[in-house]
Amino acid sequence: MIDRRKFITKTALGTVAVGTLYSCVDNGIKPHDPQKKSGVAAGDDKPVKKPVLISTWNHGLPANEEAWKTLKNGGSGLDAVEAGVMTAEADPKVSSVGYGGWPDREGKVTLDACIMDHQSNCGSVAFLQDIKHPISVARKVMEKTPHIMLVGEGAKQFALEEGFKEENLLTEDAEKAYREWLEKSEYKPVINIENHDTISMLAIDENGDLYGACTTSGAAWKVHGRVGDSPIIGAGLFLDNEVGSAAATGLGEAVMRTSGSAMVVELMRQGKSPMEACKEIVERIYKIYKNRPDLEYLQIGFIALNKQGEYGAYCLRPGFNYAVYDEKDGNRLIDGEYKIS
Ligand code: ASP
Repeated sequence: MIDRRKFITKTALGTVAVGTLYSCVDNGIKPHDPQKKSGVAAGDDKPVKKPVLISTWNHGLPANEEAWKTLKNGGSGLDAVEAGVMTAEADPKVSSVGYGGWPDREGKVTLDACIMDHQSNCGSVAFLQDIKHPISVARKVMEKTPHIMLVGEGAKQFALEEGFKEENLLTEDAEKAYREWLEKSEYKPVINIENHDTISMLAIDENGDLYGACTTSGAAWKVHGRVGDSPIIGAGLFLDNEVGSAAATGLGEAVMRTSGSAMVVELMRQGKSPMEACKEIVERIYKIYKNRPDLEYLQIGFIALNKQGEYGAYCLRPGFNYAVYDEKDGNRLIDGEYKIS
């Protein structure tokens, strides 16, 4: 099976919005207030449910498992989301993330990832090649540079300087899929057929602080150099520790056009529940795409987690699922509610 549900039409590529990079530079950060009463969100007396983890797709289950273990072993929320999504990056069977990810139309596996913490520190890499764990490189960008995003050769050089190993990420299976695709060299997606995709993870830890991570090999057979929403803070991932967090999966161009994850967080700030906020953005995207020829292949899903530990998700079409882990119900997979069939 060479088809993959994600694709980009030439039209879409021609009009790809340059990612809206939300400013979260050091001088704009609101410092974390350690005096703030733990367990109670700002301006709200509701007890916070915590910890809670939410991740996209089936591969969210093992990712949540790993992240939960990390938290229980005393790791930070940041350690947890990093360790969580690394499980998908390392799994050769996950053809949409990290090692084993399906390549672009030149046969190159190119990776995008970002990470963000409760103090609005963030790091990101895009168009990174030959490094198995882009999420860890993104974390190093956050912790060791004054910047937020590194791309391509520069990102790789930085990773190598930080001690990451160069390795071939194109597995035999991925190469085979690529060769089959080359026979026709056309985008022909089948929505959700594989049911796995970008992994995004959101966490609220024991302190009631929010963290997020997102990592992907992006759309299979994309034009060499294409970067999607996943490494873009505000598009593929966003959080505001006073409000909530959100992340996206699906056609990155649609998420970038709407600054999707940042908007979900803003809607929660205005009082919407996580699910209502996700739904409103999916509806905005649908409105933009409903008369476009590429609507046929559009799938979009958002997950969100607010400061009270309440979670929600919404997607455009059936087939999207997400994994949630909390003390009460353990780790489970939930089908996303959707707008159209
Ligand atoms: N959002 C990712 C991208 O467009 C891929 C996906 O989640 O399907 O690169």
